[in-house]
Amino acid sequence: MTKVCAVFGGSKGIGKAVAKLLAQRDYKVAVISRNLDVAKVTANEIGAHLALSCDVAKEQEVQSTFKDIVKRMGHVNYLVNAAGINKNALLLRTTSEDILSQLSVNLIGPIQTCKVAIKGMIQQQGGAIVNIGSIVGHKGNSGQSIYSASKEGLVGFSKSLAKEVAKKNIRVNVVAPGFIHTDMTSNLEVDLLNKTIPLGRFGEAEDVAHTVAFLLESSYITGHVLVVDGGLQLQI
Ligand code: NAP
Repeated sequence: MTKVCAVFGGSKGIGKAVAKLLAQRDYKVAVISRNLDVAKVTANEIGAHLALSCDVAKEQEVQSTFKDIVKRMGHVNYLVNAAGINKNALLLRTTSEDILSQLSVNLIGPIQTCKVAIKGMIQQQGGAIVNIGSIVGHKGNSGQSIYSASKEGLVGFSKSLAKEVAKKNIRVNVVAPGFIHTDMTSNLEVDLLNKTIPLGRFGEAEDVAHTVAFLLESSYITGHVLVVDGGLQLQI
């Protein structure tokens, strides 16, 4: 079976590292993000087949993106949802706009991509999905109540979907990273935070990418949340 993978949020950070690793492993990869220029540069750099612009929060765009991929690369049998945004603020200072945008991109977005993807996967009699959650969803963090809600919502969604589609030979898992060096964490005080991480360092996007690839390629793991956080979850 040709391995066709759609990586939403594949232009930068964790998604880019996933797309690169999969391209190296002979997957046909579509790199998808809102900014088409950045997606194109990334796709060229890592040897992906296709670059597309799509806002995961917009249902019509998600549907037309899948149509485009199927037309140009074949049926999508692997899906990675790495598109995400984070707006740090205490709840009382969080605007309605920031509440909606985080839930729309981080939770409703993956729900929409999964909904479209599983239709094709059922026709293909199999597939695998990895959604990128966050250790913050699991542990909670002051100033990230909405982000946490979106990420732990994604866990509940993924576990339920895993049960719904297991009989169709489709697996759904979550990777929950801790602190990873990307644009999203570029404003954090790395030296200070490193002291709180048992392994003593931020993770790299590649650390997460290898875990995503492991779950995509595993044959008997579904409904699982795999934490990649250098031991952060061990801290009380
Ligand atoms: P990043 O470097 O900021 O990359 C985010 C990616 O998502 C970009 O490709 C971005 O491209 C895309 N994106 C953002 N909004 C989008 C939308 N509405 N529709 C489609 N694509 C969109 O972030 P990252 O650190 O790699 O994060 C990747 C995922 O890991 C996110 O879900 C994040 O919550 C999660 N995570 C990250 C960390 C960390 O420490 N970095 C920890 C835990 C979890 P465009 O802006 O062009 O759309």
